[in-house]
Parts: sequence; C-alpha cells; structure tokens
Amino acid sequence: MMAGGGTLNLPAESRRLSAHELPVLSEPKTYWVTDFLLLQYQRCSRRAYLDTHRDRAEADSPSDYLQKIKQDSAEHRLAVLEDYTGFQRPDYAQGDWRTGAQATAALMAAGAEYIVGGVLIEATAPDVYLVSRPDILVKQGGWSLWGDWQYAPVDIKLGKKPKLDYQIVATYHAYVLAHIQGNWPHESWLALRDGRYHSVDLDQQLPKFGAMLHACLSDLRSPVAPEVFIAHSRCDLCHWFSQCYQAASETAHLSLLPGVTPARYTHLKAQNLTTLPDLAQASPKQLAYLPGFGDTVAEKLIHQAQATLYDQAIARTPRGADATFMLSPQDLPSAEVELYFDIEAAPDVDAIYLHGVLVVDHRQQTEQFHALLAESPEHEQDAWEQFLDLVLQYPQAPIYHFCPYEAQTARKLTQHYHCLGPADLQRLLRRFVDIHWCVTEAVTLPVESYALKHIARWMGFEWRDSEANGAQSICWYNDWLTTGDRTHLDAILRYNEDDCRATYHVKQWLTEFAQSHWQATPMSDLTVSA
Ligand code: SF4
Repeated sequence: MMAGGGTLNLPAESRRLSAHELPVLSEPKTYWVTDFLLLQYQRCSRRAYLDTHRDRAEADSPSDYLQKIKQDSAEHRLAVLEDYTGFQRPDYAQGDWRTGAQATAALMAAGAEYIVGGVLIEATAPDVYLVSRPDILVKQGGWSLWGDWQYAPVDIKLGKKPKLDYQIVATYHAYVLAHIQGNWPHESWLALRDGRYHSVDLDQQLPKFGAMLHACLSDLRSPVAPEVFIAHSRCDLCHWFSQCYQAASETAHLSLLPGVTPARYTHLKAQNLTTLPDLAQASPKQLAYLPGFGDTVAEKLIHQAQATLYDQAIARTPRGADATFMLSPQDLPSAEVELYFDIEAAPDVDAIYLHGVLVVDHRQQTEQFHALLAESPEHEQDAWEQFLDLVLQYPQAPIYHFCPYEAQTARKLTQHYHCLGPADLQRLLRRFVDIHWCVTEAVTLPVESYALKHIARWMGFEWRDSEANGAQSICWYNDWLTTGDRTHLDAILRYNEDDCRATYHVKQWLTEFAQSHWQATPMSDLTVSA
C-alpha cells in the first residue's frame, strides 16, 4: 500500500524575482536534494539555495553554541542507538552517496535487522536526485522487492516535540524508501529527546511534503536566490548570516525593522511599501485593514520606520491622544537603593545557576555587583537562597530586570524550594520592574530588535566582551563543568555583570527621556526610600 498514493509531479522551472540577486548560474546542474537540505528549506528557502549554489568556504564558522548543539545531538543519537543492539552500517566514504546507497541496498536485501547511517537515493528527474539518510532503518514484517520483510525509517532528533519540519523530513524518508523497497513503509518514526517516539501520520503529511519538495526544487532552479529576510530567531545561528545581514543592511531591508514579520512583509510588498521612506510616509489607515495589522500594529510599524529613518527615539502616546505619555511615573519608580537583576540558566542541565545583582545606592553613590552562583547544578537552591537574603536586606528597593524571565523564575524557584510563604512571595514579586516592558511601552527606538544588547548599545552602553551572549554563556558553563577551568566562570560573571549594568543604563536613559513627559509630577513624589 502507498500511503497517500501515487508519484509526485516534479515542478516546472519557475523564477522568483529578488532585490538581492546572485550571479546567474551556469546550467545544466544536478540537484542533490538531501533530507537536511529539505529541513533547512522549510526554515529558510534562501539558506537551501545558498547551501546548494554557493561555496561553503564563504560561509561563517560555526559558533560555540552551534557546535554544542551538534555535540548534544551526537550524544543523543548515540544514546538512542544503544537500544538497537547488533545494528549494521553500510561501508562507504563520507559524502560518497552512490556507494552508500549500494551498500545500504545490499544490507536491506540481506535482511539486516537494523541499518544505521544508510543512504537511499531516488533519481526523480534527469537532473534531480533525492537523497534520504534516515538514522535507522528497522526491519519489519511485510513485503518488499527482496521478500517477506520491509523497512521503516527512524529519524533521531534532539527536539522534545515532533515539529512539522521534522515530520516532513520523516515523510521524505518514507517516500524515498517506498521507491527503493517497492512498498510503502508501515510507519516513519521520530526518536525525540527524553526517550519519546512519535509515529508520523504519513497520509496526513504526504501532500504537505509534496508541495514542499515542489517549491524547494522550483527555488533551487531559479537563477536568483530567494530574497533575504533577516529574522534573528532563525538567522543568528545560520552560517550565511554575515552575507545576508550585509545584503539586508545595504538596502535597509524592511526585515531589519522590529515588527515586520514575513507575513506582514508580504502584505507591505503588495502595497508597494518596500523601503524605509515608503513605510515612514505611509498612512496608518492604509495599513490597518491588512491581515495581521490593525490600528496598533500599523501605527507601530510606521513609527518604527520613522525612528529608524531619522535615527530618533519617538515617544509613544495612546492612539488618538497627542499629549499623554504611555508610561506613568509609577511604572518606572526611582529609589534611594535600586537593584538590577539578571539570571543565567543552563537548560541542558536544567539548572538556574547564577543570580547577578547590581546594588545601586544613590545615597552612598556606590554600585556593588553580587554574583550568587551555583558552581554546580546541585547548588541551585543555595544560590537562590543567597539571592533572597540579599534582596530582603533592601525591602523597599525596586528590582529591575529585562523581560519577564527573571520574575517568572523567581516565582518558580521560590515555590520549588519553599523559601517564602505566598504573601512574602507576592511582596517580593511586586518589587520587580520589567524594564523591557517599560521601554516598549514608552518609546519607539531606531533599533533592529528590542533585545537588551540592541537597546543598550543604541543608548551608548558597551559590553566588555563584545561577543558574549546568552548562548555563549551556556557553552561557558558547560565548559566550566567539564574542565573546571575558572576562566569560563569569570567570563560568565563579567557578561552577567554587564547585563545588569546595561539594564541600569537603559533605566537611566528612559528615566531622563520620560521626565520631559512628566513635568506635571514632581520627582520627589515619585521617590521611595530604601
Ligand atoms: S541568514 Fe537568515 S535569511 Fe540568510 S540564509 Fe540564513 S536563515 Fe536565511
């Protein structure tokens, strides 16, 4: 039985016009569509194109964090394979897929129970080879070209959930395998983190896979790369980031504006709003009716374009009101002592290991940084209790942090370790002030993102280690745990302290900015004692 039935129609050649054209390709070309390429295509069509047509030597080197993810994936793969005792590997040199496919077919014909690292190739058009490399092929009852057995693919993924892009790739394995063994596999599995297995619904996914493969081949055959679109969540770890970011910066691409999502960009293009000046001069009414916009988004995007175009901060006011500032003085309290708080976590070992607190005492004119650190994950509770001891010394001091994570984690750790009663916990949480919320509520800034780094840098703050970031700190902590080298801990503490100081810097900037809008309220009324 063929789930979903039938063969896929391969795409006719089509072209996508782009503002960021690459040199015209020399034809003819052979396309090797691997499962990895299809996975990447689902995340970014441009990446699949560049991986196919550009020299990898032009790409960025992998970051420490990316290498750590690869290492974690390899360890997860080894852990899963322990359950497949006696598995066999086809013998071939890395990258020699033709030999790998022949060796895999020989093992399947011989009825091997488990085949690890197999290669399946289907020539689906004169210039297109589909290359599937399922982590494991598992022998099952049934029939195939070789007799009364057949195979089902298992793909090992580090994620906890069977994301759609994983399922499409699992369907891809099943599709190519069906052509090789002459019968559709009963199942296609995903082996996920924490020992979970997920059976992919092939009937449901096959149409989506067909459409995806069709679109992928169409894009790969185009003489120009798909248009750049910078989305930090996916681009920051991509090895083409430097090149794409340069292409986007040179043209002031609208994807560099916070709030311009791929879907919104499609609608903006349909309105011929493709440049910063176009968007800065647009009317909110023109955008508000577009799907996914509305009055608030329309106004925000136009303000964002104006702020970026003129390199200016623009105060936010309630829609329709000219004079009222969005942020009230109570939202941004000042005090004789203020605390600036930042957490470091190690998700791979499930630990919150550092609470950095900058104590700013305006009476004494002092700034003191405290690092409440769990040198190993088992000391998470100790570090949290030290944090509570410190902040309870200043019961009136607001605790500034950036984004909701610190407040959420404070609640979680306190409840988990039963450190405070409910009333005391509420009292503590009422002191938390999310400076990210204050900024985004109050002002539109000429920044590419409202992450702390982008905001604080625009306001003139610099980190001592310009390359440090949250992903890097996860690697440093892992390096500390595995090597015992304290230079890794020192790097984390420096980075964490700078994050606290950056939060303080943003708060000071915002207070000065807001004061001009609070003329009617004397600042003495807004100050609380430590
Ligand atoms: S940097 Fe972003 S846009 Fe460029 S190829 Fe990578 S994911 Fe795609």
